[in-house]
This record gives sequence, structure tokens and C-alpha cells, in this order.
Amino acid sequence: MHAPQVQACVALGANLGDALGAVRQALRDLDNAALGRVLRVSSFYRTAPLEAHGPHFINAVALIQTQHSPLALLHALQALEHKAGRERPYTNAPRTLDLDLIFYGDCELSTPELTLPHPRWQARAFVLLPLSEVCPQRVSADMLACVAHQDIERLSIAPSCK
Ligand code: AMP
Repeated sequence: MHAPQVQACVALGANLGDALGAVRQALRDLDNAALGRVLRVSSFYRTAPLEAHGPHFINAVALIQTQHSPLALLHALQALEHKAGRERPYTNAPRTLDLDLIFYGDCELSTPELTLPHPRWQARAFVLLPLSEVCPQRVSADMLACVAHQDIERLSIAPSCK
């Protein structure tokens, strides 16, 4: 019997080293039979660090289909961060790759390890703008208005993960 397929939204960001290359590689890794299948990828964005340090970020959001449970998916995302050389020397340090699980279907969860939907998704232009491309039904005009002051630029780079 097959495990049910669930659609999940993953926010990708990087601001250390080859940030664009790291986001592209993560998209390829997400589109992997063992993890899931990438259904849609947003444009790439360049954003100023928000509650973080270092150079500007490259951000994107992917809609994926997965058979993993929420926690197994989080652990798979953390393994990809680790593979990209992610270190956590201090809170909000620059990062080679940051993968946040924004939605897992309509699952709501509040555990020490995983909160769903992601606790800060509505406060961040770098989540809302790309999310509005791949899951427009999740994002309202009011939400976008609340983050309109944040420094974010859509890049004219092909977002393909293939
Ligand atoms: P960060 O250092 O920004 O990657 O934060 C990751 C931490 O947030 C980890 O300890 C996760 O267990 C926790 N966390 C809680 N909810 C989520 C979520 N929805 N997506 C990703 N990380 C989460």
C-alpha cells in the first residue's frame, strides 16, 4: 500500500558563499524520489537580512509533494542544510542554506521541534512574495501590504530546479 501524498511548501534561503548555487542545488535535492517531487518553484528573490546578519539573501519557495511525515520531512530538510555546510555559530548567523517548512497540507502542529504552519511565515516578505506565486490561495493582499516596507527584489533568473 502507498503512503498518502501530501503537498508541502518549503522556503529556501542562503546568504553565505554561492547562495544562488546552494538554493539551486537544494531544489534539485528536493526533487528526489526518496524525498518528494517539486511541483512548482517561485521566482528567485534577493532580500536584505531580516533579524539576521551578513550579505543579502537569495530566497525562493517550492511546492513539493511528499510521502514523508512532517517530522521526517523536517529531518530531511535539515540533512540538506547539513550537506550544504550549514553551521549555527550563533542565532541568526549567515547561512549557506536555510530550509523552512512553511505548510504541510493543512496540518497544524506545535511541538518543541516543529511548528506548523511555520510560526513567522506571515511576517516575512521573502516567504509571502514567492509563496504568492506557487500557492496564491494562501496569501492575501492584506498580508502582502503588511510586509510592503521590507527590502526585496525579484530576480530575472530562471528558477528551474531541473
Ligand atoms: P533555523 O536555525 O532558522 O534553521 O531554525 C530551525 C529550528 O526551528 C529548528 O530547531 C527546528 O526544529 C525549528 N522549527 C520549528 N518549526 C519549524 C518549521 N516549520 N520549519 C523549520 N524549522 C522549524
